[in-house]
Amino acid sequence: MPRSNEHPGPVRVVIVGAGFGGLSAAKALAGGPFQVTVIDRHNYHLFQPLLYQVATAGLSPADIAYPIRGILRGYKNCSVQLAKVLSVDAERNTVVTDRCTVPYDYLILATGARHAYFGHEEWAEVAPGLKKIDDATELRRRILIAFERAETETDETERQRLLTFVVVGAGATGVEMAGAIAELARKALAADFRNIDPRDARIVLVEAGPRVLSAFDERLSDYARRALESLGVEVVLNTAVTACDAAGVTLGEERIESRTLIWAAGVRASPAGKWLGAETDRAGRVIVDTYLSVPGHPNIFVIGDAAHVKGDNGRMLPGVATVAKQQGEYVAKLLQQRAAGREVAPFRYRDPGSLATIGRKRAVAQIFGLRLTGFVAWVLWSVAHIYFLIGFRNRLTVALSWAWNYVTFERGTRLITGVDGAGGQPGDGMSAVGEGPDGREAA
Ligand SMILES: Cc1cc2nc3c(=O)[nH]c(=O)nc-3n(C[C@H](O)[C@H](O)[C@H](O)COP(=O)(O)OP(=O)(O)OC[C@H]3O[C@@H](n4cnc5c(N)ncnc54)[C@H](O)[C@@H]3O)c2cc1C
Repeated sequence: MPRSNEHPGPVRVVIVGAGFGGLSAAKALAGGPFQVTVIDRHNYHLFQPLLYQVATAGLSPADIAYPIRGILRGYKNCSVQLAKVLSVDAERNTVVTDRCTVPYDYLILATGARHAYFGHEEWAEVAPGLKKIDDATELRRRILIAFERAETETDETERQRLLTFVVVGAGATGVEMAGAIAELARKALAADFRNIDPRDARIVLVEAGPRVLSAFDERLSDYARRALESLGVEVVLNTAVTACDAAGVTLGEERIESRTLIWAAGVRASPAGKWLGAETDRAGRVIVDTYLSVPGHPNIFVIGDAAHVKGDNGRMLPGVATVAKQQGEYVAKLLQQRAAGREVAPFRYRDPGSLATIGRKRAVAQIFGLRLTGFVAWVLWSVAHIYFLIGFRNRLTVALSWAWNYVTFERGTRLITGVDGAGGQPGDGMSAVGEGPDGREAA
């Protein structure tokens, strides 16, 4: 097996990022002639597909996150380091973290992506996105505080502003967020206030393209739009946001006054490309070769949301968990095979399909050539998400929470954390300490 930096002992594989891609690589390297080090800036693996449920008080953060050490406990050739990677020295084969320098023979970068504001990073403070646990609890805080403040607000215009929620971007995250906020307002909170009727809340989903869920079949997009509208969500298509501020959004000539903006549009890859000085696409994803390695650096691989890889149809593979997982498994297999003196074929993605949910009992599913909608698709969505969650306790608590929410419409995790009282709307000088989704820990 080629070694970039000869040293005694097993081949050192360093994996940066314990998301879907990094973890699947680490697990698949178990038992091989490797000493694997997994580095992550968080001590937990996060199941991002259910973040929106934390943001809308359906689940609690611990339900969708699991300690990385716990996941890799049984993988004896794997060790874990809690550290933030700052750069890579590809000449010396070392990773530089905020704690130390880690040498490698092979490096797998699986550092994911953040949201992007199309050159308007200043919108981040007023329109936070959803990528991390902190983002979800921050959004939960903003959504719940808006209702609390509306309850005591005497000015009608301001009350309307507080009861208007704008979600920007109608991909899966935007659709799921808008549907969940609508159900929160119309069901879970409906009877809890005395001066306002939460059912009057206005939820607007704004999309620059011609349809919601554009990655899905047109018929499913159409179903999702109608399902959102039946929940009371206003869907605004073919309309780009031209400005965001603490009091609302501007859509060209139109203005929507709102105290709660949620950003679900645009993606920016982690700075892996910068660390390597590698060629990237416009979103910062590293353009890797067909073996997922970086041109000029055959011992460095980039996978998942941080990588730009084309599928069989010539189009870029989507930033979804299944792509990251398959790529992690592929790189592990490539290293195993090369260790045994064999070669592997280039990476090919096997698309298992896509799922997205709208509210608590409807979904769309594009799977095994089938197009499903409604309750059947929602059952599929639920089973798939529970199956892919890590940890028996998490699976059980999520399944029980969903069953409970389904029957009662309750949202038990309606906790406002980070501030005392009803302060904390952006731009009013009462925001939570250390606020700002990107400012806290930019990728
Ligand atoms: C709200 C939301 C909903 C989604 N819903 C779905 C869905 O329903 N279905 C689906 O298939 N996909 C979904 N996705 C996409 C899916 O979550 C991603 O495609 C997937 O997580 C990518 O995996 P990854 O391993 O590339 O990165 P991630 O899973 O993002 O993991 C990256 C890891 O790298 C770590 N890291 C980053 N930078 C550093 C650094 N400098 N130092 C150390 N560690 C670092 C992070 O802490 C993190 O643990 C969703 C994403 C979001 C945000």
